[in-house]
Amino acid sequence: MNLGEREILAHAAGQAMDYLAGLPERHVGATAGADELMKLLGGPLPEQPASPTETIDLLGRAAAEGGVVASSGPRYFGYVVGGTLPVAIAADWITTAWDQNSGIFDLGPAVATAEHIAAGWLIDLLGLPADTSVGFPTGCAMAHVTALAAARHHVLAAAGWDVERRGLQSAPPIHIVVGEQRHLTIDLALRYLGFGTDQVHVVPADGEGRLRVEELEHVLADCHGPTIVCAQMGDVNSGAIDPVGDISDIAHRHSAWVHVDGAFGLWAAASPALRHLVAGVERADSWATDAHKWLNVPYDCGLVFVAHPQAHQAAMLHTRADYLPAGVPGERDPIEWVPELSRRARSLPVWAALRTLGRTGVADIIDRCCANTRRFVTKLESLPQVQILNDAVLNQVLVRFGDDDTLTRKVITQLQTGGVCWFGATTWHGVLAMRISVTSWRTTESDVDRTVEEIGKTLARVRGTASAPPPPATGSA
Ligand SMILES: *Cc1c(COP(=O)(O)O)cnc(C)c1O
Repeated sequence: MNLGEREILAHAAGQAMDYLAGLPERHVGATAGADELMKLLGGPLPEQPASPTETIDLLGRAAAEGGVVASSGPRYFGYVVGGTLPVAIAADWITTAWDQNSGIFDLGPAVATAEHIAAGWLIDLLGLPADTSVGFPTGCAMAHVTALAAARHHVLAAAGWDVERRGLQSAPPIHIVVGEQRHLTIDLALRYLGFGTDQVHVVPADGEGRLRVEELEHVLADCHGPTIVCAQMGDVNSGAIDPVGDISDIAHRHSAWVHVDGAFGLWAAASPALRHLVAGVERADSWATDAHKWLNVPYDCGLVFVAHPQAHQAAMLHTRADYLPAGVPGERDPIEWVPELSRRARSLPVWAALRTLGRTGVADIIDRCCANTRRFVTKLESLPQVQILNDAVLNQVLVRFGDDDTLTRKVITQLQTGGVCWFGATTWHGVLAMRISVTSWRTTESDVDRTVEEIGKTLARVRGTASAPPPPATGSA
C-alpha cells in the first residue's frame, strides 16, 4: 500500500488532535517502562519498507500504552515545563512542512524575517535595551553558552586579547562569579567554554535562594581584571529573583559583565503586575531564557539577548565561507547570533504565539500561572501537616508534609502513580520537599482545586498507613 503524502499527514494530524483532546484526562505520569517501549518500538532494523501509517500508528500505541508524559497537560507541575499553545503547535507543523534551513536569509526569507520581527517584539515585551541582539538557540542552556561566549569576548577584548583568534590557553585569567543557587546549566556552559566548574567564585544565597548583594561586594573586591558575574531570575526551586539592577550597578563599577539566567523568571517582565519583581533587569549585559517554558511553545526554543551586539556577533559566526552570501543590510541572518549553522526555524512558533497573544495575552498567561500558584499556597495551608517552605513570589512552591522526609516522599510517590497530577521532589535547606511549578496556559483554578483535593486525600491515606502498627517482624514467629 503506497499512500500519498496528504493521507500520511492527515493520519498523523488526526492522531495528534486525538492526543490533545485526551490530554486533560490522561494519566499524567508515564506508566510504560523502557522494556515495554523497546519491545513496542524496537526489534532489528527492518529490511524492507513498511507502511508509513503503520509506523505512525506505532507511535499512537506508545502514547496509548503510557509511554508519553502529559507534561503539556493542565495538571503537570513537575520541573518547570510549559504547555503548548494551539497556534504554536500549528506554526510548528508549518515549520516542519516548509523545512527551511533558517540559518541564512537566502534559504528562507519568510522565516528569517519572522525571526527578525519576533526578536524585536521580545525586546519590547521584556523591556530590554532597544539595540539588544537576539538569538534563538535550542534552549536556555545553549543561550548561556552563547551569552557567556559574548561575555568572554568582551571582557578579554577590554584586556587587549582576541579570544576567538588566540584562544583561552594563554589568555589573561577571567574571574567568574556565580550565585550559590545557580542552575546546573550555568556550570554546563562554563565547562563547554573552557572555564571549568571549580574556577568560580561562589556568592552565598539568602534563605529564599537569592544571591546576597553585600557578599558580592566582598567577592568582587578580590577580582582584579576580566570578570563575569552570573545572576539569576527565577530559582528553579523557589522562583526567587536576584536583585539584578543592584548586582549590575555593583558589577559595572568593577567593569564586570553581568549575565542573567532568566529561564522562566525573566518572563515576569512581560506582566505589568509583576514587572516590579525584575526592576533594573535592563541594566545587565546579557540574558538567557527560553520560549518552551513560560511562553508555551513546543520544544525546543531558547532565547539569548545581548546588550552588546558586536560582542555577540564576534563570538559566533566570525568569518563567512566563500559559498555563503555576504550579509545584506535589512536581511538578518539567524546564524550570526547562535552556535549552530543549519537550523530549524524554531522562531516561527514564537512569532505565531506573540502575534496571536499580543502583549496582554502573554501577561495573562504569566499572571494566571502566578495567581494559581498563590491559590495552591492558600488551599494547601489549610490542610493539616502541610508546610510551605518558600515565599511563592512567582510560579514555584515548595511543600513539605509533616516533619519527616518519609511522609513527604510517600505522598509524592503516590501522587505520581495516581495519575491525576504530577509533582517532583527536591532538597531545600537540607530537607525533602515537593516542588510545584505552574507554567502551563492550560491550568485552570478548577485544576488547582482538583489537585489540592487529590493531595489532601493522598496525605490522609498515607498518614493512615503511616500510623498503622508496624507489621510483625518476619522470622520471629
Ligand atoms: C530550565 C532552566 C534552565 C535550562 O533551560 P533549558 O531550556 O532546559 O536549557 C536554566 N535555568 C533555569 C533557572 C531553568 O529553570
